[in-house]
Amino acid sequence: MMFKDKFVVVIGLARSGIAVAKVLVNLGANVLITDQKSEDELKDAIEKLRSDCPQVKFRMGGHPESIFDDADLVVVSPGVPFNIPVLEAVRKKSIEVIGEIELAYRLCKAPIIAITGTKGKSTTSTLTGQILSKTYENSKVVVAGNIGTPLSQYVLDLEESDLLVLEVSSFQLETTVYFKPAVSVILNVMMDHLDRHKDFEEYVSAKYRIFANQTENDYIILNADDPTAYAVKNLTKAKVLLFSSRQKLDKGVYLENDNIVANINGDRIITICKSSELKIIGRHNIENSMVAIAISMIYGAEPEAIAEVLKEFPGLEHALEFVGEINGIRFINDSKATNVVSLKAALESVDSGINLIIGGRDKGNDYEPLIPLVEEKVRHLIIIGESAEKIEKSLGCFTKWVKATTMDDAVNKAYNLAKSGETVLLSTACASFDMFNDYADRGKKFKEAV
Ligand code: ADP
Repeated sequence: MMFKDKFVVVIGLARSGIAVAKVLVNLGANVLITDQKSEDELKDAIEKLRSDCPQVKFRMGGHPESIFDDADLVVVSPGVPFNIPVLEAVRKKSIEVIGEIELAYRLCKAPIIAITGTKGKSTTSTLTGQILSKTYENSKVVVAGNIGTPLSQYVLDLEESDLLVLEVSSFQLETTVYFKPAVSVILNVMMDHLDRHKDFEEYVSAKYRIFANQTENDYIILNADDPTAYAVKNLTKAKVLLFSSRQKLDKGVYLENDNIVANINGDRIITICKSSELKIIGRHNIENSMVAIAISMIYGAEPEAIAEVLKEFPGLEHALEFVGEINGIRFINDSKATNVVSLKAALESVDSGINLIIGGRDKGNDYEPLIPLVEEKVRHLIIIGESAEKIEKSLGCFTKWVKATTMDDAVNKAYNLAKSGETVLLSTACASFDMFNDYADRGKKFKEAV
């Protein structure tokens, strides 16, 4: 689509919407940006965008149907649900409605490596970006998307010889039409976001959109141990590479004793490094590393260069981040663990004697899968947030527990309950918005309290 003189309505005045508006203005489009929040609430963002792009028009405090009347295209930010009634009405008028990621894809010249999954996306995207940057020193290697920087922000600067590592969420995938990555990844698919997706089936079909347009020239990397990811093997046209931390594979990346080995074409096994040489801990991080290995090898990275990055990579802030030790008590910040799956991964990765700060905004969680690990490894639950009662009912009879009202209170109680040699772990299995701005704010407050 040519954008010159087209009228495009952008919904959502946050980072992604702002990036979209700027790109479209750059391409000669007439842009109206709209948001549910009032002009007053968005004062700073409006002022900034106005000074960068005076041509952009604003409609704050809701989006009545009439503003879409003459639109050629509507672009929706990932934070805005794709099925709000006004969008249904707009679609009925045959106006195309797409997400930010689809727009950016249509403008992107560089090959896209798209990574999705319930957990591990940011770790894997960052790691992959670091290895590829080392391999392609003379090209741009950009890591963007759900990880923080919208793809639209970079897209016009990328050439065919550059590489784009894109973290994509189910909400972003839901809004794609022609989106076609050269390499796609499904790390794992587990119950999450049932607050926004109708049911698990809808969540899975959003994730599956990642390979919907891939052809036999493209690759897809799948978790052989995750039934929903593995099932894609028989649904995709793309070349399949598997990874597993639990079984040997004919082709793919897997463990042989302690060695992480890769057999990308099925004819040669290459040892990359020992899993115990990774700085990041836990089986889930071995799996994330395996994906980064598979992608980098598709793009011709040398095993030695891959190993070098893997051995140095310290992990992301707020993802099993070691904060410090006081009187023999270790403090670990895993604020990114916003669902049961990632808390489970944390409990599997940390030694017994855990004093666990858990709770927050529930997303339709089922805490039952945690019971065996709680019984085995958790000495105390320090329960915070809106979900306190539900967690107490689900897990309270399997270990000792107390409630806490603030992060300071939680850290103090955890510290007083913990013995030397034990760990205080913040890994809440819940969203943070009941008590904090976001997971980063929660992790920061934990670190300050420690
Ligand atoms: P995402 O971007 O998908 O949210 P991150 O890499 O930021 O994933 O990690 C978020 C949380 O999930 C952290 O607490 C981390 O320890 C945990 N985690 C990371 N990778 C995995 C995985 N493969 N399986 C389960 N949990 C994981």
